[in-house]
Amino acid sequence: MPRRPFRLGRSLTGLGLFATRPIKKKTRLAEYRGPILTQEEAERAERRGNRYLYEVSRNRTIDGTPRYNIARYFNHSCNPNAESVIWRGRVFIRTLRDIKPGEEITYDYGTDYLKNVIGRSKCKCSRCRRRRAKRARERRASKRRGRAKSARRQGRPRGRRG
Ligand SMILES: [Zn+2]
Repeated sequence: MPRRPFRLGRSLTGLGLFATRPIKKKTRLAEYRGPILTQEEAERAERRGNRYLYEVSRNRTIDGTPRYNIARYFNHSCNPNAESVIWRGRVFIRTLRDIKPGEEITYDYGTDYLKNVIGRSKCKCSRCRRRRAKRARERRASKRRGRAKSARRQGRPRGRRG
């Protein structure tokens, strides 16, 4: 297999994987590897706080904790440039579009993970951060508008008196 087209690096959430050269759409990047757990074992691991579980089917969950599983370092995004695909009981991370060098490679972990593990309001992906920044700007702007309005209301009677 050729050298990986991505490397481990610092991201906002800790570590992440970044493209080191242009990568074409639909490129298979890595396999999500680890011991296979039964449903019962997976539930136990989840209760212990394991955040690297990938449920392939009802009785087949990959425990992606081991360090050799490079795919565990792909971060979640609500606007991802890669996806996970299941093929014959195995899981691969594959690009959704062309990726430029330097771009962080992400995939969508799914609604359950976002809701239960990350927390919708705490997601640090670029789309969620942009949305939160926009909302904060709008809140600040509407506060300014509110202040301007009340200043005018106070100004009118004074103007009449003078
Ligand atoms: Zn997000």
